[in-house]
Amino acid sequence: MPSTLHGTGVSAGLVIGNALWLDNRRCVVPRIKINADQVDAELERLDAACELSKQQLTALQLSVKESLGDDHASIFTGHQHILDDPELRKRIASCIKEELCGVEQACEDVLAEFCAEMAQIDDEYLRERLVDIRDVGERILCNLLGIDPIQTPEHSGEPRIVVADDIPPSVAARLNPARVAAFITASGSRTSHTAILARALNIPAVVAVRESLSVIRNGTCLALDGASGVIHVGPTQEIISVFKRRNLRQRAWMSQILSESNQPIETLDGYQVRLVANVELPVEAMNVRQRYNVGIGLFRTEFMFINGASLLDEERQFIDYRDTAQAVYPLSVIFRTLDIGGDKFLSELNMPHELNPFMGMRAIRFSLSRVDIFKVQLRAILRASAFGKVRIMFPMISTLDELQQALTVLDEVKNDLRANKVPFNEDLDVGCMIEVPAAALLAERLIQHVDFFSLGTNDLVQYSLAADRSNPDIAYLYQPIHPSVIRMMKHVADVCYANGKWVGICGEMAAEPLYAPLILGMGIHELSMSPVSLAPIRKLVRSIRMFEAEALVAKALQCGSAGEVQKLCRDFLKKSCPELLFEDNPDNSSSANGANGANGNNANGSSASATPQQ
Ligand code: PEP
Ligand code: MG
Repeated sequence: MPSTLHGTGVSAGLVIGNALWLDNRRCVVPRIKINADQVDAELERLDAACELSKQQLTALQLSVKESLGDDHASIFTGHQHILDDPELRKRIASCIKEELCGVEQACEDVLAEFCAEMAQIDDEYLRERLVDIRDVGERILCNLLGIDPIQTPEHSGEPRIVVADDIPPSVAARLNPARVAAFITASGSRTSHTAILARALNIPAVVAVRESLSVIRNGTCLALDGASGVIHVGPTQEIISVFKRRNLRQRAWMSQILSESNQPIETLDGYQVRLVANVELPVEAMNVRQRYNVGIGLFRTEFMFINGASLLDEERQFIDYRDTAQAVYPLSVIFRTLDIGGDKFLSELNMPHELNPFMGMRAIRFSLSRVDIFKVQLRAILRASAFGKVRIMFPMISTLDELQQALTVLDEVKNDLRANKVPFNEDLDVGCMIEVPAAALLAERLIQHVDFFSLGTNDLVQYSLAADRSNPDIAYLYQPIHPSVIRMMKHVADVCYANGKWVGICGEMAAEPLYAPLILGMGIHELSMSPVSLAPIRKLVRSIRMFEAEALVAKALQCGSAGEVQKLCRDFLKKSCPELLFEDNPDNSSSANGANGANGNNANGSSASATPQQ
C-alpha cells in the first residue's frame, strides 16, 4: 500500500531505490558484578578502550580530511574532545568503584545519564551533539567488547536507500556514494553533522521524518526527494515515472549548465542576470565554484561554528574565509555576519531562553550585544578580503541606528587593521539584509549607508505575515507572494535603482521557477539559492523576456491575494517555460523545486538597476 512520509530534506536529489535498514545493533552489554580487587583491572580496560578509540578516530579524521577536507574532519576533533573529557572518565571510574560493576555496564550507565541530562537542555545544537556523544560512547563500548565499531551497511547489487533511526557521523563519513543512493533517518536536523556530511558527500538525504519509519522494510521500494523531504513508500508507477522524468530533466539541465558555464545568463531580450549560491561551509563554496562556476550570494557563517571552531578564534575564522575567497575568485563571496538566535543557538554562548526567539536576541542584535565576538569576525573577514572578492552583509537590520552601530564597529576594526598595517580591501562592499518589514519601508534611508541590499525573504515573509517559518500548522499563511510582500520587495528594488545601488535576493523564493519571473521583473538581478536550484532557474532566465516579466509584476501589484498572484505566475510560466511547471509533480509542489517563492513588479524598467561585477 503506497504511503507518503515527510521529513526535512537536507541534501537535494531525486532517488528511486530499495530500502536497506542500517544495522543499528547497539552493543549488548554484559551486566556483571566485580570484586573490589578487580576495580583497577577494569579501569585499565577502560583506558585501553579509550586509547584504541582515539587511534580509530585519528585514522577516521585523516581519511575524512583526505576525502572531504578539514572542515568535515573537524567533526571528529569534536569526538576526540568528548573522549578526552576528564568528567566522563571520572564518572565511569566512580561508577565502577561505587557499584562494583564491570566497565561496560559503568560506561553504558554513565553515557545514558549524560545523554539524559543533555536532552533536557533547550538548545538545538547541544541536542545535536548528543548524537556525537552516543557515537563516541558506542565506539568505546564496541572496543571493550571487541566488536568493529564502524557498522557501514554492506550489500551487493544496486545502490540502496539506507534507513535508520539515526546515523552517527562516524558511519555517515564512511558511507560510499557508489553503494548508498540516499539515506533517511528518524532523527537529525539540517545542522546535524550527519546532514552536513550528506551534503558534502553529495548523497541525497531526508532526516527527522515525522511519521514512523516502521512502514519501511528491507527491500521496500522508495522514491525520495532530498530537497522537499518527501518520501513515497511503495510508489505507484505514475510517481516513479514522474521522478524519472524530473531526474532526466535535472540531469539534462546540469549537463547544459556545465557546457555553458562560461556564457552569461541572460533573458531572451538580453538582460543579464547573476545567479549565485547559498552555502554554509567553506567546502560547499569550493564545490559550488567547481561544479557550477558561480559565486556565493550568501555564506551563512554561523554554521561554521557548530563544528567546534571557537567564535573567538580569529585565526581559524580567517583561514576559512580566506580559503573560501580564494577558491571562489575571480567571482565574489558575500559573508553574512553571524545570524544566531531564532532557531540557531551555539551552546558555548549560553544564550538565555526566550519566549519569542525569532523576535529576540538574534543576528545583528546579538552581534551588537557582543561587540567582542563581532569584532573578531569582522577582523577575520576583512583580512580575508585581501585575498579575493569579499563582501560583508549584516543580517536582520531593523533600524537605521542598528545599521549605523554595525558600520561604526566595522570602521573601528578597519582603523585598527590600518594602524597595525594589516592588509584588507579598502573598497570592500558592505550591504545589509532586508528581512524585517521596518527595514523594507525604511529602505531610502538605509541605502544611503550601504552598497547593496539582499532581500532575505525567508524572514521577510514570516515577519510580514506574523507566520512562524518553521510551524507547519500555519504554513498556509506563509505566503511569499502575498501582495504585501511583493509591494515591499518592489519598493526595495525601486529604492536601489533610484540610488544607483544593487539588490539581490537570497531567500528560498529565489529558487522557485514560478516566482523567479516576478523577482526578475522587479529589477532584482542577483538571485542566490541552494546550488541544486541553479539549473532550473538558469533555464527559466533564458526562457523569458524582461519586458514581459515587468508586465507580470505590474499586474501582480494590482492583486489583492496570494492566490491571484499565484494564478498570474502559473499562467506566465506555462506560457514561457512549461517544462518548469511540474503539473505532474506528485508532491503537489508548484514547480520544479517545490521551494517557497515570491515576487514583485517593475513597470518602470528597474531591471536596469546597478549590478555589481562578480
Ligand atoms: C532569509 O531570511 O531569507 C535568509 C536567507 O536568511 P536565513 O534563511 O538564514 O534566515
Ligand atoms: Mg534570514
